[in-house]
Amino acid sequence: MNSFERDIAPIAQDPKVRSAIYLDHHATTPIDPRVAQMVMRVMTDIYGNANSTGHGIGNAAASVVEQSRAAVADLVGAEPEHVHFTSGSTEAIYLAISHAIGNHRKAPLRVALSRVEHRAVVDTLLQAERLELVEITWIDVDDSARIVWPSLETALQAGVELVCIMAANNEVGTLYPVNTIAQKVHDVGATILVDATQGAGRMTLSCLDSEIDYLALSGHKLNGPKGVGALISPIYDPTKTYGLATSHRATPNVPGIAGLGEACRLMRLEGEAENTRLSLLRDRLQAELLQRLPGMVINGEVGNRLSNNLNFSVPGAPNDVVVARLRDTVALSTGSACNSGAQSPSHVLMAMGLSEELLDTCLRIGLGRQTTEPDIDHAAEAIATAIIEVGNLLSGDEND
Ligand code: PLP
Repeated sequence: MNSFERDIAPIAQDPKVRSAIYLDHHATTPIDPRVAQMVMRVMTDIYGNANSTGHGIGNAAASVVEQSRAAVADLVGAEPEHVHFTSGSTEAIYLAISHAIGNHRKAPLRVALSRVEHRAVVDTLLQAERLELVEITWIDVDDSARIVWPSLETALQAGVELVCIMAANNEVGTLYPVNTIAQKVHDVGATILVDATQGAGRMTLSCLDSEIDYLALSGHKLNGPKGVGALISPIYDPTKTYGLATSHRATPNVPGIAGLGEACRLMRLEGEAENTRLSLLRDRLQAELLQRLPGMVINGEVGNRLSNNLNFSVPGAPNDVVVARLRDTVALSTGSACNSGAQSPSHVLMAMGLSEELLDTCLRIGLGRQTTEPDIDHAAEAIATAIIEVGNLLSGDEND
């Protein structure tokens, strides 16, 4: 018995893990078997160092990297030479901010960010602020997590130099008009960082003509591998990042990059149909839940969400108890993967001004490529039952 069979197989084969309906695709997506096959083939057959192009074996690896670069660029309407591979979005965001600071002649850099950005953006900027490398202005959102335009305009007029706006929110799914915002940002001579981790492949994005200065995306949100992503930027230069910038080129993660490229290629080919299918399934789930749960409130902008997102609250049923009750039946979450487990309420829902009751009871559902109609019907039944049972238990109405 090898160590995989001894240590990992029992986890993978646990019937509770295997039979749960997975509805947490904003946290991560399962790898598409076609992508996994590509990763495996490249890992075993194309083992060269893509930087060692003095021989055919290295050249083969380099050409895989170049093909993937083109596929990633194609998904977001960018030039292939502007694609810089990273270990995921967190690193891409870090590099973009580090470059914006390092490229700036005198600190601090004036940065504006929306109040609903992901922690990867927020925490990096808060740390930079503590080091007096940036000055932060917050851009407000309304109760649907939409940008409050006067708040953005005020930041732009005040001479901000970098604006961070995500393409799509990872909790409530709200979609942002990033290309329109990029135009306004460029009109005042500033640059824009777009965190497209959730949006890439699920909305129209264009990086053509240097419309977006920095864009981050990640393989594992696109049915690709974990630990690989990209910073797409016409201005990024690794020698100009803040701190110990280096011109050394690390050995590329060729199998991971191949997987990211294949995931982007499939998303480009199939994404539109997939988004239509998922939005119909999401609407079906939403309707079934609304029918069973009269107190249910949908969080976010109903007409302008990610096709696979449903975030809602049902007062009276605390979300951590509901998620624990559903543990072996439906995998869903109380918020972003970075918040789950932590008791602090979501900064996104707080920025939207939700009442404490809605904050305590919010649930986030993310559908994905392998979600089926029977999954949705089973999940609706299980989720509604759990919420009703928890509500009854806590209100002392066990017999209702
Ligand atoms: N930005 C958003 C909007 C996300 O949803 C995530 C992951 O949850 C990240 C950034 C971080 O991405 P990664 O896991 O690739 O570092």
